[in-house]
Amino acid sequence: MNIHEHQAKAVLKAFGAPVADGVAIFSADEAGAAADKLPGPLWVVKSQIHAGGRGKGKFKELPSDAKGGVRLAFSRDEVIAHAKDMLGNTLVTHQTGPAGKQVNRLYIEDGADIETELYLSLLVNRDTGRVAFVVSTEGGMDIEAVAEETPEKILTINIDPETGVTSGDAGKIADALELKGAAREDMLSLAPILYRAFTEKDMSLLEVNPLIVMKDGHLRVLDAKVSFDGNALFRHDDIRALRDLTEEDEKEIEASKYDLAYVALDGNIGCMVNGAGLAMATMDIIKLYGAEPANFLDVGGGASKEKVTHAFKIITADKNVKGILVNIFGGIMRCDVIAEGVVAAVKEVGLKVPLVVRLEGTNVDLGKKILNESGLDITSADDLDDAAQKIVKAVQG
Ligand code: GDP
Ligand code: MG
Repeated sequence: MNIHEHQAKAVLKAFGAPVADGVAIFSADEAGAAADKLPGPLWVVKSQIHAGGRGKGKFKELPSDAKGGVRLAFSRDEVIAHAKDMLGNTLVTHQTGPAGKQVNRLYIEDGADIETELYLSLLVNRDTGRVAFVVSTEGGMDIEAVAEETPEKILTINIDPETGVTSGDAGKIADALELKGAAREDMLSLAPILYRAFTEKDMSLLEVNPLIVMKDGHLRVLDAKVSFDGNALFRHDDIRALRDLTEEDEKEIEASKYDLAYVALDGNIGCMVNGAGLAMATMDIIKLYGAEPANFLDVGGGASKEKVTHAFKIITADKNVKGILVNIFGGIMRCDVIAEGVVAAVKEVGLKVPLVVRLEGTNVDLGKKILNESGLDITSADDLDDAAQKIVKAVQG
C-alpha cells in the first residue's frame, strides 16, 4: 500500500525525523489559511499523488510551458494562485503513465534553503536478505538517470537485523553522502530513526529524494515516498487509515473486497486463472502470441462459486476487454466450481466478447459438462498453448 508524501512525512516525524511544517488542503479555498499557518517567505505547493517525478511533471489541462506539480511560492497570493492552477487537474509524470493522475490534494510546506540534494532510500535487499540503505550524492529529480549512466555513484549499506543501525553503519552512510559538520551529526541520529520507522511500520520502501543539506548545515527530509508491505497491514490500523481509494484502480478495489489477487493492466484479453505462477505463465503466452493481457488474476485455491462470479464480473466490467481466457488447472480448485461461477456470472451480466476456456484437473469432466449444458458460446481449449492461440485469434479477428 502506498501513501501520500504529507502522510509519509507525518509518520517519519513521529519517529523524530527532521521534516518541514506543512498543511494538506483539498480545495483552493483553504490555500490562504494554510499559507498563513507557515512563516514564509518561501512556501512550496506540492501536488499529492501516488507517483514521483511531480516536479518535472506536466498538467494535461495547462499550457505546455506551465510549471510542474511542485512549485515554489514567494507570497500568500502566489500560494493561492498555484493551488487554483493545480487542484482538479491531471498531472502526468514519468511514473504515472500517459493517463496521468488527478490532483485532489496539495501539501503547502514551509520552504527550505537548499545547499545540496542527496538521495537516500531503505528497501529490502533480496540478495542479502537484509534491510539496506541505498544512497547517492546525486540526489534530486534524476536518480533514474544516475542509476543508468553512473551506477557507481549509488552505494548500498546492508544492516544486520541483530544489531540494527550501528554507529559504524551510520558513519558509512554519512561518508557515502560526503557529509560534514552538523549534517554528519544529523545523519548519525537520522539513520537509526529511519531504520526504526521502516522496520516497526513494516515498510517495503522508504525513499527520500531529495534528502537535503540546508544552507544552515542541517539535514531535512524534503520528499518522502513510502510503501507498506500489504501482508503486514493487519497489524497497523494507523497506516491502514491512510489509504486513499481515489489513488487506486476501481477494479482493484472491487477485487480486494473479495480477496482476489487482481492487478489491472493495459491489454485487451481478460484472464481468469488459478495460481499466481500459472497466471504469470498465461500472461506470458498471450504476449508470445502477439496480444496483451488486460489483467493479472489469481482466483486462488478453493475459491467459492461466488468468488469466481465476482472475478468474472470484474473482468467483463473492464471496457478494454475484447476477449476472455479462463485457464484453470484444478488441484485444490475444482473445475466444476469454476464452471458454475462462470455460468452464473454470464447469466447475470451477459457475454459480449469471445470466451475461451481451458480446464484441467479435479472434476474436469463435470466442469466441461456444466459449460456444455449452459448453452453459452464458449470455445474450449485442450492446453495452454491452444487456449492462448484461440483467444488471440478471436480478439484480433
Ligand atoms: P518530485 O519531483 O515528485 O520528486 O518532488 P520533490 O518533493 O522531490 O520536489 C522536486 C524538487 O522541488 C526538489 O528536488 C527541489 O529541487 C524542489 N523543492 C522541493 N521543496 C523545496 C523547498 O522547500 N525549497 C526549494 N528551494 N526547492 C524545493
Ligand atoms: Mg522527489
